[in-house]
Amino acid sequence: MANPDVIVIGAGVVGLSAAIAAQARGMTVTVLDREGPAAGASAGNAGAFAFTDILPLASPGILKKAPKWLLDPLGPLSVPPAYALRIAPWMFRFWRACSPEQVAKSTTAQTALMDLSKAELEPFLHRTGTLPMLRKEGNLQVYESEAELKDALPGWKVREAHGIEFHHLDASRMAEIQPGLAARFTHGTFTPGWYSIADPKLYTLALADHFRSLGGIVERANVTALRPVEGGVEVLSVGGETRRALQVVLSAGAFSHRIARSLDERIPLETERGYNTTLPADAFDLRTQVTFGGHGFVVTRLSTGIRVGGAVELGGLDLPPNFRRSEAMLRKAKDFLPGLKTQGGRQWFGFRPSLPDSLPAIGRARSTPRVIHAFGHGHLGLTQSAGTARLVADLLSGQTPAIDITPFSPQRF
Ligand SMILES: Cc1cc2nc3c(=O)[nH]c(=O)nc-3n(C[C@H](O)[C@H](O)[C@H](O)COP(=O)(O)OP(=O)(O)OC[C@H]3O[C@@H](n4cnc5c(N)ncnc54)[C@H](O)[C@@H]3O)c2cc1C
Repeated sequence: MANPDVIVIGAGVVGLSAAIAAQARGMTVTVLDREGPAAGASAGNAGAFAFTDILPLASPGILKKAPKWLLDPLGPLSVPPAYALRIAPWMFRFWRACSPEQVAKSTTAQTALMDLSKAELEPFLHRTGTLPMLRKEGNLQVYESEAELKDALPGWKVREAHGIEFHHLDASRMAEIQPGLAARFTHGTFTPGWYSIADPKLYTLALADHFRSLGGIVERANVTALRPVEGGVEVLSVGGETRRALQVVLSAGAFSHRIARSLDERIPLETERGYNTTLPADAFDLRTQVTFGGHGFVVTRLSTGIRVGGAVELGGLDLPPNFRRSEAMLRKAKDFLPGLKTQGGRQWFGFRPSLPDSLPAIGRARSTPRVIHAFGHGHLGLTQSAGTARLVADLLSGQTPAIDITPFSPQRF
């Protein structure tokens, strides 16, 4: 069989969206995944298109919360002792990215990518036949005191300056949007422009189906290395197989840096491991996505159930999961939504692919313009998938990217 124009590595939401965008530009595309579509974070996330989340995670606010969070080993943020030394250089870079200058730069870049992603999303869903999966139910961020809301106000001011709609609410107005919240939540902020997908795994699988229906090929391969050759790139995988394409997109989520190493690139990609439990659909009458920001988790209504998920565990790719984390989150969710039925849940854990400044890597590899990196979207890979796909397709077809991609340069570290 003839070599494809493009090989995409990784059949998560980022890789498949990019593959579909390349296909729409007339390129022949093969997607390689070692396990199959939706094997990674794209399956188990909270399903949010969090377009209003323009502030980077790396910020002074998180530095203020982190010490308290770290005291609780099952709390919103944890560093397993076995990984503490390994993660230290990444944490140092994260800390440096919390400077006011870098936060301002990252916010501008993130806003541009969010605006592009929002503009691209509905046409993309329409083209791929997935528009019926889109929900526009907003997000309710809840606070336990007026002081907690006040602490969050500077962030809302930044969003206001970027034209983002939100409404601060008292307890009675919150109850109109989401009945059943515990009385400890006295204030809230509702953002109507926050969308979600009916189920992130079914969405990713639907993208794979659409891609195949237009002649795209999805193959199993555990990719180990990339090798630039005359007029193309070779893709090497376990078992000694070698494939070849004119261009390659590297979108293997939290594992991408391992493959990038074969091109002599050292990209400080780490993983923020996250956990969730998906309860049966009748577990709670959820009307909007609810974010318990002070506790680092969200509750989402999916077509497949009520998902309670979040937490950040800086534990690398190889340590086994600690599902006591999901259980702790579920206990809290029961306190916060007393009517929640907590039986019959399915637990999951996955790897957010995260760079220390909270921005993804989107751009060409240093050693060859024929490899395009598209990974490291952290907490926002679903949200930014359609925008990233547009940028990747622009690069693959030699066009000027729709927005300035300098802030996302894989070589910025
Ligand atoms: C608990 C949790 C909640 C989240 N909630 C949200 C949310 O609400 N909204 C949002 O926007 N984002 C959310 N995220 C983040 C989001 O899930 C990720 O940013 C996104 O899924 C990353 O997509 P991806 O395609 O880059 O990676 P993945 O989905 O991880 O896909 C990577 C693929 O690459 C494959 N692969 C890896 N190595 C190789 C190899 N060597 N060879 C071949 N294939 C390989 C894997 O099998 C996998 O299929 C959440 C994440 C977590 C963990």
